[in-house]
Amino acid sequence: VAHQETHGFQTEVKQLLQLMIHSLYSNKEIFLRELVSNAADAADKLRFRALSDNSLYENDGELRVRLSVDKDANTITIADNGIGMTRDQIIEHLGTIAKSGTKEFFSQLSGDQAKDSKLIGQFGVGFYSAFIVADKVTVRSRAAGVDASQGVEWQSAGEGDFTVADIEKKDRGTEIILHLRDDEKEFLDDWRLRSIVSKYSDHINIPVEMYKEEEPERDGPAGPDGEPGEKIPAVPAHWEAVNKATALWNRDKSDVSDDEYKEFYKHISHDFADPLLWSHNKVEGKTEYTSLLYIPSKAPFDMWNRDQKHGLKLFVQRVFIMDDAEQFMPTYLRFVKGLLDSNDLPLNVSREILQDNKITQAMRQGCTKRVLQMLEKLAKNDAEKYQLFWNEFGNVLKEGPAEDFSNKEKVASLLRFASTHNDNDAQNVSLDDYISRMKEGQDKIYFVSADSFAAAKSSPHLEVFRKKGIEVLLLSDRIDEWLMQHLTEYSEKALQSISRGDLDLGELEDEDSKKAQEEAEKEVEGVLERIKTVLGEKVSDVKFTHRLTDSPACVVVDEYGMSTQMIKLMQAAGQ
Ligand code: ADP
Ligand code: MG
Repeated sequence: VAHQETHGFQTEVKQLLQLMIHSLYSNKEIFLRELVSNAADAADKLRFRALSDNSLYENDGELRVRLSVDKDANTITIADNGIGMTRDQIIEHLGTIAKSGTKEFFSQLSGDQAKDSKLIGQFGVGFYSAFIVADKVTVRSRAAGVDASQGVEWQSAGEGDFTVADIEKKDRGTEIILHLRDDEKEFLDDWRLRSIVSKYSDHINIPVEMYKEEEPERDGPAGPDGEPGEKIPAVPAHWEAVNKATALWNRDKSDVSDDEYKEFYKHISHDFADPLLWSHNKVEGKTEYTSLLYIPSKAPFDMWNRDQKHGLKLFVQRVFIMDDAEQFMPTYLRFVKGLLDSNDLPLNVSREILQDNKITQAMRQGCTKRVLQMLEKLAKNDAEKYQLFWNEFGNVLKEGPAEDFSNKEKVASLLRFASTHNDNDAQNVSLDDYISRMKEGQDKIYFVSADSFAAAKSSPHLEVFRKKGIEVLLLSDRIDEWLMQHLTEYSEKALQSISRGDLDLGELEDEDSKKAQEEAEKEVEGVLERIKTVLGEKVSDVKFTHRLTDSPACVVVDEYGMSTQMIKLMQAAGQ
């Protein structure tokens, strides 16, 4: 080996390795899924690059990954002929975690292994999972299109550091050699490996091959009268695919099992947990494409990081084009993972071409509709599961009415709120639930918003509503104010803040109480004028109110002014 160097792992990698080895012990076979998944990604990347430079195939265009074992050396080798890595890439990709927000994520870990191992699930494990079963990992790689002398060897025991050295490597691609821990010898078993591949990697779209020993010529089954059967010819040793090796999304829905959909999700999303829900569709007609869209079960730790990549994996006619194509999903559905395979886009499509493209737009509309439909169906058929979705992603969905005018009503029907009906902070009341409980003569949907649920719940504005038994939605998320500015109507009913302007309860007001109110106002004649003089410029007006039953007074914003919540938001933003 030449030019050998030792590098330290990024701190977060060290933490990840520690946690992973302990927490994934009962599920250690997933290391193979992760390594095969990376090999398939490497094949996708090569195919894409070769679209514009066919020489990268180096006369070997049959992309595949091969598994082999060496029982004497105690090793498993996973070898692909994909894109490969240069020395710099290997140091970067196998020494750091290239995800923004990682540092923050790790700084939040509690140090309690049981708790933290749950968090790491949503983080994804990837290459480093090799160390669950191996106490030494050797990676030999050579990037497509470079000279055989530019190979690189990476080696680590999964502790603090790794070495890299220059090597000669004739074959393009990456070879990962796992030196198994003493108690992990079960993975040397051919049958065990095959069953792991079919469990986790059947959907991978390149062949996952294992070596089959030579089968000598033998006798076929004997005939009915005991005469010898025909000879079955010898089969020379060969590499044999042990997976289906077809693109899962091209298969018929009825041929794909739930488990396959779940494993495929883990492959494309780099998530570790099962998805909550998915929808697989072949769209024909003016624009033709296949979509496979997933809703994760957990929000990623970086969902609020605006720079974080999101979007769908894009294929054109089965050829992988790019990850994170964000043009196909509105921002308020940024939690959706999945892929699109278009028949119409050109193979040389770029992010620039995708922008302002009619085909893109049609696909985006189609996908948006699919996701909303999938959520509607879930809400209708499985409220409990829908609630799980809402608790994870509800606050993102609330960006919908502002962003997507054409689907405003649909998104609104998916929203869930806390309300005085339940009087707790669980957000599980839909606008339709609310409407079904509206009082005779009530024509508006009432809400109050505050900094916290406790503040909303004890708002003095609520008093008259509680007295009259009228339900009020209790809003306390930061985004709610923004939401309500854009959601002024649902199902032809106005949404009305109860802390805004003159509250006109319309037909809910009865004649008797109006009379009583007038009398009450007469009793305190002169008070208004005195308060006005005292407060002077500080307020724009002082009025009688009959909204309050226990509190003596409250501050309101006039009908067109900024709400107190919005004022606080603006102040927080430094305006
Ligand atoms: P992820 O797959 O989520 O990116 P991994 O930890 O599995 O994370 O892999 C880290 C990176 O290492 C990959 O993104 C890729 O750039 C590189 N890599 C891993 N395995 C291979 C491989 N077989 N061929 C080429 N690059 C690879
Ligand atoms: Mg990976």
